[in-house]
Amino acid sequence: MAKMTIFDERCKGCGLCVRACPKKILELSKTKLNAKGYYPVAITDMAACTACQSCARTCPDLVFEIEK
Ligand code: SF4
Ligand code: SF4
Repeated sequence: MAKMTIFDERCKGCGLCVRACPKKILELSKTKLNAKGYYPVAITDMAACTACQSCARTCPDLVFEIEK
């Protein structure tokens, strides 16, 4: 399984990665705010992640670190 670190304090909740994920397993939190006041991204099904890096390439704020 891929190993993903989400630096959610860097996230500004723009949603670009949510749209970029081919597996549709990223979503913005509906309850948790980060220190910047944004609802950060979270992964809903880590087992389904293919480590394609699409989210990491799309995110302007270097929120994702993914290892195969
Ligand atoms: S690495 Fe690919 S499959 Fe995994 S969360 Fe990111 S975009 Fe989705
Ligand atoms: S693209 Fe980056 S900043 Fe935007 S919601 Fe996704 S993780 Fe957060």
